[in-house]
Amino acid sequence: MTEQRRIIARVLSEATDHPDVEEVYQRSVKMDAGISIATVYRTVRLFEEANILERLDFGSGRAHYEEATDDHHDHLVDIQSGKVIEFHSDAIEGLQEKVAREYGYKLIGHRLELFGVPIAAGKKKKK
Ligand SMILES: [Zn+2]
Repeated sequence: MTEQRRIIARVLSEATDHPDVEEVYQRSVKMDAGISIATVYRTVRLFEEANILERLDFGSGRAHYEEATDDHHDHLVDIQSGKVIEFHSDAIEGLQEKVAREYGYKLIGHRLELFGVPIAAGKKKKK
């Protein structure tokens, strides 16, 4: 692994959010000004192919990334602020297994993104 790749790997593993390539690049150049966006793109694709990284689609048209981990979670995206909430629901997990089984499949993975707007508590309704 080259030094630049190592830096990009560190940026990704230290991220607590779900950065897109541009954000990974911004953070990486702070540690090594020589890193180019092309290198970030290439490295991210490499990590994705190696299943080190997971690519997420939050409906923004840009791919977001997070480290692949064993503790599975799904995402709820606030489409107004772009905030991403991580959640785990045993009920949803169970249902997915059930659906797959009903169609004669053993589930080996899934991807779930929920999109919502905050429920404005106490906000007055327009007439
Ligand atoms: Zn996540």
